[in-house]
Amino acid sequence: MVPSRKFTRKSAKDGHNAAYHRDLHTLLNSQVLVLNRLWQAVNICTARRAFALVYAGHAQIVSSDEANNFMAHDFESWRDLSADAPDHEVVTTISFKIRIPRVIVLLVFDRLPKKEVKFTRHNVFERDKNTCQYCGQVFDRSELNLDHVVPRDQGGTTTWENVVCSCIACNTHKGNRLPREAHMSLIRKPKRPKWRPFVQITFSAPQHDFWKHFVDLAYWNVELSD
Ligand SMILES: [Zn+2]
Repeated sequence: MVPSRKFTRKSAKDGHNAAYHRDLHTLLNSQVLVLNRLWQAVNICTARRAFALVYAGHAQIVSSDEANNFMAHDFESWRDLSADAPDHEVVTTISFKIRIPRVIVLLVFDRLPKKEVKFTRHNVFERDKNTCQYCGQVFDRSELNLDHVVPRDQGGTTTWENVVCSCIACNTHKGNRLPREAHMSLIRKPKRPKWRPFVQITFSAPQHDFWKHFVDLAYWNVELSD
């Protein structure tokens, strides 16, 4: 996590506590563009969150020189670089000052904001690829039912792990029985899907010129997947 030291503005003077705490708050809440491992823009977070990710080693801070060569920095390297940064862009701890990042790049996909895949009829069909999980055949959605593997009246739950796509014939044959009672077996064990829904991020204009290198459109969808 972010160093537990209290951040204070370097320019702060006694008697201006309220003002510089407000400034500090503003700086730490400024927006940072988040890139995935492929350097695609996937999110926006606060500088506070960006520092936490970088300090924990889950992300690096992106900088560029005049020739638009991009470099990624870990916490120490960024701290060293921050020594020359203008005061209005830095926060100062007891022992060092550090520049507010504009862009970070994630080192792991797992640190992306997680959105659970909603448990819906549509998503069960998506997970099972419109395939009956008993006979293995692909059907039109109108010809598929959702089947409780363990029937509800035997304690079966309506969850990712107990609901599958089933064709009408298999569903009718199985009836209100366990698969083994009907001498049927599943082609695969039902699980919560690993894929994630599209994450939509909307903003009216890039907050910083630097973002333009990574953001082509004002609206974008990025599929978050491993
Ligand atoms: Zn079937």
